[in-house]
This record gives sequence, C-alpha cells and structure tokens, in this order.
Amino acid sequence: MTADDSPAYKRVLLKISGESFCHNGESGISMPEVTSIAEQIRDVMTSGVELAIVCGGGNILRGKDFAEVSDTIIPSTAHYMGMLATVINALALQDALETAGVPTRVQSAIRMEGVAEPFIRRRCIRHLEKGRVVILAAGTGSPFVTTDTAAALRAREIDASVVLKATKVDGIYSEDPVRNPHAIRYTEISYREVLDQNLQVMDAQAFHHCMEHRLPIVVFNYKRVGNIGRVISGDTIGTRVSANGSSDAQ
Ligand code: UDP
Repeated sequence: MTADDSPAYKRVLLKISGESFCHNGESGISMPEVTSIAEQIRDVMTSGVELAIVCGGGNILRGKDFAEVSDTIIPSTAHYMGMLATVINALALQDALETAGVPTRVQSAIRMEGVAEPFIRRRCIRHLEKGRVVILAAGTGSPFVTTDTAAALRAREIDASVVLKATKVDGIYSEDPVRNPHAIRYTEISYREVLDQNLQVMDAQAFHHCMEHRLPIVVFNYKRVGNIGRVISGDTIGTRVSANGSSDAQ
C-alpha cells in the first residue's frame, strides 16, 4: 500500500491472537514473528488509516484451559492471568512497531501505570486521530470472556467501521479445510448464514455483538505478507461477514 492509496475503512479494529506472537505450534513470544506483523502494519499506516489493535494472550495462557488443568487455581484468577498475558504481548508489539518507526500507545483495561495508559475512550480516539497505533491490552478487564469480545466491544466504543480478525487461515470455510480439502471458502457471507451453518468466526458473544450492531467482520490470513494492507485497502481477500453477505464461495 502506498501513500496515494486511500483506505477502504477510516478506522479499524484489528484483532491479533496470541498464537501470532509465536512460531506455529509453540508458545511464548518470538520477536521475528512480532516484527513481521509490525512491518506489515508500518506499510499500512502511510494510507492514513486509523488503527487500534486488540492483542490476545493464548500464546502464554488462556484462563479457561489453565483453570481446567489445576485444582488450585481459581477460575477468575486464571482469567486475570490471561489478561496479563495480553499485556506482555502488547508490550512486545509496541517495541516492534516503534522499532519500525510507527508511533504507538498501549492502553490497558487493567490499570498498570508503570507500563501502559489506562483505556480511556476519548483519549484512545485522540491518539488514533494523531496517527498513533493504539494497542489495547488486558481485554475487557473482566474475567470469563475472550479478547474476541474485547475486540467487538472496543470496536463499537471507538466507532471503528470493521473488525479485522487476523488468522492463519484464508477465511471462513464451509468445513474445516484441513479435514476436507474440498471445503469451499466464502468471500462474503451474512451473519445469519454463519449462524445457520454453525460456522466458527469469533467467540459467540463477540459474534452476536457484531451482528446486533451490524459491525462487519473480515477474517483473513495475516501470514501472507501485505495482507493487512490489502484488507484495509478493501481488496477482496479473506471472508467478509456482514448483514447482507451473499454466501458466494471460492
Ligand atoms: N481474558 C479475560 N477477559 C477478557 C479478555 C481475555 O478474562 O476480556 C482472558 C481469558 O482467560 C483468555 C485470555 O485472557 O483466555 C487470553 O485471551 P484470548 O484467549 O482471547 O487470547 P487469544 O486466543 O486471542 O490468543
């Protein structure tokens, strides 16, 4: 994307899962992986798009999974640990972006003055208007939900026009493409069709929030270099879920 390309969306909320912060099948943080995402984002920012990012934490800890394997940990504690994991990722992404020359702010839903600003809606929007990438950490600040829900809620709050869900697959398929190589990928699909076909897009709470407020979701493969820019410039990649998707397939 070049400075002459105007973005298809003025303000976007990009959801990056924790698994994007590490090598396939591993856990923890791999800075080369984070840097490659940061470089894609750097290339996008010349378009003038306003970009807020919600980080997941699953590369470090998911509350539900952790609580299930321990008799000692209290479930809400495990979820708070998961939220703190998202802050670790946010700080890694912040340094990778700043190293790439992109101004950033981290805002956390759990107050931690030493490392991040608190999430304040109006301040977040002001940063976006000034061209800073705002990395939203600690999810919603409340246990028992996931960062998908945080992404949907924050997108509404900051008036983003789309939720971009960065994944390692090319979009939403009729079936699991690993199990069935003949599965078809949708380019456009409606919220209703996703529900009727029981397709997996985001966690259910997040999906219903987007549907209720007609907030489009684009599921796309961020591993193909340049795809973050392509999706923001409006190229037809991945799968776009909206109120009037037409269930066309590839
Ligand atoms: N979490 C939470 N409240 C939130 C967001 C996240 O309790 O608002 C916890 C939850 O335990 C979750 C973990 O943080 O499993 C990490 O987030 P998530 O699983 O969404 O990360 P991802 O799968 O996107 O890497």
